[in-house]
Amino acid sequence: MKPSSPDKPALKVKRVQDLTIAKSKRVLVRVDYNVPLKNGRFEDITRIRETLPTLKYLIESGAKIALISHLGRPKGKPEAKYSLKPAAPQLEKLLGSPVAFCGDCAGSAAEKAVAALKPGGVVLLENLRFHAGEEANDPDFAKALARLGEFFVQDAFGALHRAHASTAGVPKHLPGCIGFLVQKELEFLDRVMGNPTRPFLAIIGGAKVSDKLGVLNKLLDRLDGLVIGGGMAYTFLAAQGISIGKSLLEKDKTQQAQEVIEKAYAKKVECLLPADHVVVKEIKPDAETKVTQAMAIPADLLGVDIGPHTVEFFTEEIAKANTIFWNGPMGIFEIDAFSKGSLAIAEAMAEATKRGAVTIVGGGDSLAVLSKAGLTDRMTHCSTGGGASLELLEGKTLPGLQALAH
Ligand code: AMP
Repeated sequence: MKPSSPDKPALKVKRVQDLTIAKSKRVLVRVDYNVPLKNGRFEDITRIRETLPTLKYLIESGAKIALISHLGRPKGKPEAKYSLKPAAPQLEKLLGSPVAFCGDCAGSAAEKAVAALKPGGVVLLENLRFHAGEEANDPDFAKALARLGEFFVQDAFGALHRAHASTAGVPKHLPGCIGFLVQKELEFLDRVMGNPTRPFLAIIGGAKVSDKLGVLNKLLDRLDGLVIGGGMAYTFLAAQGISIGKSLLEKDKTQQAQEVIEKAYAKKVECLLPADHVVVKEIKPDAETKVTQAMAIPADLLGVDIGPHTVEFFTEEIAKANTIFWNGPMGIFEIDAFSKGSLAIAEAMAEATKRGAVTIVGGGDSLAVLSKAGLTDRMTHCSTGGGASLELLEGKTLPGLQALAH
């Protein structure tokens, strides 16, 4: 397997089908079950379903399978609301075979749980981020994880851009490879994004500007159009001197946001920002919503979704493009009253797929929007990794892949 991009040399990484895994061998599999949860229920199970090919392959080879994943941002200690426990019955249903659960992902309890498996047995271990060593890429924690297996399979595409213990650390101690999900993602993103059918449009939303500025800068070299929505759009609007009321703002990023707009202008990439907004006094499900008449937001209000006029011209932009990449919701879609903009973008993407455009949606929140709209099957490709797919597009080498290279 040679993951590549036009800008960087190929990395040589083994695939799961390249390894000979004898019966009863313990295999540690890093999956990405970081799925948005609402009231203890998963909003979208695409990420779980997409790991089935690797898991079924390993089950058939008679391996003992230990699954590790993170969920949310629990800050290095156990927090009940971030437990992976609900994922076990979910996976069990999808696999059609039993999935055990263990309340810790490292140490003697986890080691015992793996040892107790029969050939072809599966145990899901508790959230990696209940240990501070995960995000710190602590070598001792990586070693403790590695003790659970004799082989390591990396199938967490959505976590490949993080240099954590379970991505960058574990492969130092175990023979490692990539699973079928990671292979599928890399092949698709390489093939399509390396040589997109033009016009190539990116729609970027979500809350955090800081996460995405680097990507936006790089992407401008490849794009024909850029649509910015969601909470991050307000920092761009503020950078243009437009009043945004109490909306989300990353003040220290306004200068860089302005640079993105200027670069887009210089490169003749059409860059669109919301022109009207759904606004509220405070974020709560039953808040009274209003729509602004223009770009500016009154001082006592905050923007929670793109407005109907914006939906209209974003939709027109989508209708003109032949390759469309979407990452990040257009508003606080978790609250129904603020989800119309994101749902409308999902509809426009489905229409684009129907007329033959290549549509790619990346990231847990965007997948949750598709699921809410019932349109998951109407995209050309649903990527399980938002950040990872963005960084691949940016031409970066992903630490989780680098660690497996030989
Ligand atoms: P990110 O992790 O940066 O992709 O952001 C995803 C989150 O952005 C989702 O949980 C949305 O609720 C949130 N979001 C989208 N639009 C807004 C907004 N206008 N204000 C606050 N949060 C937002």
